[in-house]
Amino acid sequence: MEIIRIPRIVQDTCKKHRMKGRSVGLVPTMGALHEGHLSLIRRSRMENDITVVSIFVNPLQFGPSEDLARYPRDIEGDSSKISSLETDILFLPDDALMYSPGFATSVEVAGIFEKLCGRFRPGHFRGVATVVAKLLNIVYPTRAYFGQKDYQQTVVIRRMVKDLNLDPEVVICPTIREHDGLAMSSRNAYLGPEERLAATAIYRSLTRGAEAVLQGERSARRIREMVEEGLRAEKLIDRIEYAAAVDPVTLDDVEEIGREILLAAAVRIGNTRLIDNLLVNV
Ligand code: AMP
Repeated sequence: MEIIRIPRIVQDTCKKHRMKGRSVGLVPTMGALHEGHLSLIRRSRMENDITVVSIFVNPLQFGPSEDLARYPRDIEGDSSKISSLETDILFLPDDALMYSPGFATSVEVAGIFEKLCGRFRPGHFRGVATVVAKLLNIVYPTRAYFGQKDYQQTVVIRRMVKDLNLDPEVVICPTIREHDGLAMSSRNAYLGPEERLAATAIYRSLTRGAEAVLQGERSARRIREMVEEGLRAEKLIDRIEYAAAVDPVTLDDVEEIGREILLAAAVRIGNTRLIDNLLVNV
């Protein structure tokens, strides 16, 4: 596995692979890798000749009062996990090379930014769209891999790729969960044992909502209330940012549930913000 820190070198290396007719898969991450990330890397390995994993804790997507400084970092552990999956290139850019002095450009995906997580994390999706656009231009992948766990992010990226005529196929991979259903997340590491137990209420509540939909409930409001009730019942959940039942494409609230509905929730347990979602096909 090659470890490359300089964007220009990754760009030249990947360009050569593409010119020789090799497919390149990109898995963008912020590190502190868990099975969720590794599932994306395995999928890329299966579908491409060359796999590039990037690890970059992108300052642009963190708000001033968010956890940028304490975000978990474990480059040694991450590199050994990535290399055991026979990844070809680990791209580890540093901030100064990604955002050189005078950096002034950002990518805005209007409409989607203000919904769900966007309401509570102003600027977050602009940071995500901007860094992903940069990574796609640096690596120029055939396919780029993202997790359904960050559902709104996948909507933003698909929209951006389509609107800006970017090249790669966007591949969305299923959410990988702990044995008790909690979606794997680097932020789970912040949770104490009791908080960790409380966090299972998120998946449980979403599942209850999904089961009700599958049993015939068609009122999105009822489903929202049901999910919210489940979350409220857990005393260690300090704040419910949202419990939503929305159109999976527009992320707008719906009244009557049609063929597909996205159930999504964001909560705070202590200082830790956790999100999860379930896509229900009726
Ligand atoms: P992050 O390092 O949190 O920015 O995540 C990097 C990529 O891994 C994103 O596309 C995430 O959606 C994806 N990811 C994170 N957690 C999971 C999970 N539990 N299952 C599947 N994909 C995940």
